[in-house]
Amino acid sequence: MNNISENLRNILQKLPVGVILCAVSKFHPINAIEELYGVGQRVFGENRPQELTAKAAVLPTDIEWHFIGHLQTNKVKMVVPHAELIESVDSLRLLEAIDKEAEKCTKIQKILLQMHIATEDTKQGFLQPEIQEILKNTQQFENIEIVGLMGMASLSADTEQIKREFNTLATLYHKYPTLTTLSMGMSGDWEVALECGSNNIRVGSAIFGARH
Ligand SMILES: *Cc1c(COP(=O)(O)O)cnc(C)c1O
Repeated sequence: MNNISENLRNILQKLPVGVILCAVSKFHPINAIEELYGVGQRVFGENRPQELTAKAAVLPTDIEWHFIGHLQTNKVKMVVPHAELIESVDSLRLLEAIDKEAEKCTKIQKILLQMHIATEDTKQGFLQPEIQEILKNTQQFENIEIVGLMGMASLSADTEQIKREFNTLATLYHKYPTLTTLSMGMSGDWEVALECGSNNIRVGSAIFGARH
């Protein structure tokens, strides 16, 4: 039997102080989120705008939603009103769209810049020089606060390769002392990510079980 509260607790017990666990609830029902909310979990991750909107409408307002999926500019207006943090910002056009929408909502939207660190070219993200360029000139986005970086490692059994990819992102992160959030690590690699300095892991199936 799969006990999601126990899965959550087992992971939380292994997290150093200051590391955020984003429970990735995409494709999982409201009642599963409510169960974890009931044992104190507040940070949940979703990757589809419609699903985020539908869930946020019926769940407690003190949930901190992290948007973690590829976001199209025409869906930004569905996400900004609900997202505490948009982790998956991967283009300048998206930054501009988020900036505009945040102004309309009179909020400062916190975001992470997603960097492409994996070998697969299907994974979204900026290249390192693009991130450096954006971080040189953050004040151009008045309604956005760039609080850190996010990356997804290759889907690989080679732990050394995963470490190299995470370390690439960690090294860049440490060049910017004002950044506070380094988001790396999913169900299969969060322990490696912690070793590499992640302070925000995004874990779905290891808590909720397989997605259908
Ligand atoms: C789905 C997803 C996760 C969680 O994946 P699991 O392997 O189920 O833990 C983490 N990050 C992103 C960006 C995702 O899309």
